Amino acid sequence: MSAVTDPVPVFQRMAVIGLGLIGGSLAAAVRRGRLAETVVACDRRYEDAVLGQQLGVIDEAAQSIAEAVSGADLVVVAVPVRATESVLEQIKPHLSAHAVLTDVGSTKASFVAAVEAVFGELGPNIIPGHPIAGSEKSGVTASNPDLFAHHKVILTPAENADPDKLAKLTRLWEGCDATVLTMSVAYHDEVLAATSHLPHLIAFSLVDTLAGEDQNMDIFRYAAGGFRDFTRIAASDPVMWHDIFLSNREAVLRVIDHFSRDLDQLRTAIADQDSTTLLKVFSRAKAAREHFSKMLSGQAYVTDMSQNQVTFHLKPGGRMTGDIRVPGDKSISHRSIMLGALADGVTEVNGFLEGEDSLATLQAFRDMGVTIEGPDSGHVRIHGVGIDGLQAPRGPLYLGNSGTAMRLFTGLLAAQPFDSELTGDESLSKRPMGRVADPLRAMGAVIETGEAGRPPLKIRGGQSLTGIRYEMPVASAQVKSCLLLAGLYAEGATSVTEPAPTRDHTERMLEGFGYHVHRSGATASVSGGGRLTATAIDVPADISSAAFFLVAASIAQDSDLTLRHVGMNPTRVGVINILRLMGADIEIANERDIGGEPVADLRVRSANLKGIDIPEDQVPLAIDEFPVLFIAAACAEGETILRGAEELRVKESDRIQVMADGLAAIGVQTTVTPDGIVITGGQTMVGGTVDSHGDHRIAMSFAVASLRAEGEIEVTDCANVATSFPGFVELAQSTGIQIVAEGI
Ligand code: NAP
Repeated sequence: MSAVTDPVPVFQRMAVIGLGLIGGSLAAAVRRGRLAETVVACDRRYEDAVLGQQLGVIDEAAQSIAEAVSGADLVVVAVPVRATESVLEQIKPHLSAHAVLTDVGSTKASFVAAVEAVFGELGPNIIPGHPIAGSEKSGVTASNPDLFAHHKVILTPAENADPDKLAKLTRLWEGCDATVLTMSVAYHDEVLAATSHLPHLIAFSLVDTLAGEDQNMDIFRYAAGGFRDFTRIAASDPVMWHDIFLSNREAVLRVIDHFSRDLDQLRTAIADQDSTTLLKVFSRAKAAREHFSKMLSGQAYVTDMSQNQVTFHLKPGGRMTGDIRVPGDKSISHRSIMLGALADGVTEVNGFLEGEDSLATLQAFRDMGVTIEGPDSGHVRIHGVGIDGLQAPRGPLYLGNSGTAMRLFTGLLAAQPFDSELTGDESLSKRPMGRVADPLRAMGAVIETGEAGRPPLKIRGGQSLTGIRYEMPVASAQVKSCLLLAGLYAEGATSVTEPAPTRDHTERMLEGFGYHVHRSGATASVSGGGRLTATAIDVPADISSAAFFLVAASIAQDSDLTLRHVGMNPTRVGVINILRLMGADIEIANERDIGGEPVADLRVRSANLKGIDIPEDQVPLAIDEFPVLFIAAACAEGETILRGAEELRVKESDRIQVMADGLAAIGVQTTVTPDGIVITGGQTMVGGTVDSHGDHRIAMSFAVASLRAEGEIEVTDCANVATSFPGFVELAQSTGIQIVAEGI
């Protein structure tokens, strides 16, 4: 039996000043996690500190601040924010020179001002903090060691903060199962004014107004659940909120003014029976709320909506039949919003992919002042603002999981007159952006990236760009599109030459919007200074989504499946070419042209696939489809070799390694090479558990693999499937894959 060793405490003696809900909860979490050797607390009422000791929240109750602080290497101020300065005065004479001093107050400029008043400056050991977790309850009896789990804690260290002290404080909060973020004091106060302080103010005010109007409170008796939820926060502690509003006065006043203007606008719209404005505002708000619901999880003070963990459970075997249409093409959906927003006039889009990625793009344009109606069953109406009509967004543009959106936006925003910042979710924040930032800088753009060229990207507005001739070192449609979009604003011509063919949706769609793209061989170029004219776009079904079903129907026995209206852009059909080379039975019918993009219906029947040496010229044409092509290779007879696909290593995951690990987990051995993989087909897929690493295409590929597996397959971390393929699980079930998704 192995002995369980206690973790080494992060601090020796933690002193909590103010043992209420937050101080008590932190003390309880620190004690439980043994994150400090001793936890001592002092409270205005000594009885509360003694009660805390009796409840097991702290080790020692101190009679005074002096007693608590003496000998402590961490001091946490957890009193109402207006009491901070007088508490700091009492702390100062007893604070050891190397102790970390932090707080939990809901406003940060006020804490810094109090520190400066007492200590003269914010020294390197003083690190302001604010846990975004709480409750309407107060006092030590409400202490809860789980309060911070799956919530965020914001630290606002100054530039001179001691990195070791910051790291220790971060470890302490992470030991309480919180996620730690850092930001500037001013940004913290702005963000909190808008997302927390204003809603509390409205809740207090609304309940007060209604209670004043109805002395008997009769209306409360009839209030529906919506009212209860909306006004729940009006039961929060009045002293705490009084302090918060007075301490964050400036930022709160700004956001109240903004809100009052918008409320007035709604009042006028109702008075004037102006349906257009009402519907515009409500549909914009609904879309924003839906878009941000994912981001809101884990950020609310009270509700704990920890990220959905979705797992696919797959039974082995099955045959694929049916007549289906997969969702609209992601690349075309993205670009339709972008160009529609920049065009003169109203663009109508049908078949729009309502995945989180394109919704992120849509939301970003709304944030830049573009009116967009829908999406409503795939229909979107974009009221273009013209090439120079975008407005500065109020805050960073959040692009979720979408690498395409981030790269294309970088080109577009590099040329705008305003500053902007692009952020994304955890996986997008790990992806390289230097490949777009570098050539844009050569055009004159000013772009700051995060560590190692990763997001967030800070783009300085007001730069005049000059066209360049750029030879892409690695074939990438995103880089090409990014530069062409920047080129719309640049002086002279911007031309991009690709080492191998990549998707040309941007070029086709620019032409569709009346903007000429000169194309000769491997080079596409645009001249800056033109305008775009609104148009109608019928988005073809996404061949990347169709690919899962093409492989599924090829590898499963007795299958016969038809896929309608599939986009057949020559730069995207690599998956069909490769599958046909492997012996797949794919019939292409009803070929037609829809708005510059070729479309066809595909009929796929089971086939005995054979391994091939994948022609390198097909690699860029099938780059997103390799995960599922690896499954086809594993089911084929003989060896399949992929080369020249290093691009796959920097996708949503290192797709070569993650696929190789997943295949190994279900019993298929492969050989990974620096730029590809060798897969020997025909090995028994015994089944097992595959970690998709949050990569939607990996998750769906292993769902397809189940058709030929001999045992059950479980795929974890599948929540991102909804980003690229809404309705995948239902469509897979209806055609023959025995899939159940748990956790949706
Ligand atoms: P709380 O439950 O009322 O606790 C505050 C504690 O501090 C009380 O025990 C209070 O004593 C004590 N106190 C007040 N003045 C003091 C002084 N001069 N010296 C020593 N102790 C003093 O409030 P809380 O919710 O924990 O809030 C504490 C801090 O956390 C506030 O700055 C707040 O902005 C922040 N915060 C709160 C939440 C939330 O949702 N509640 C969330 C995040 C951050 P008495 O009981 O005698 O007044």
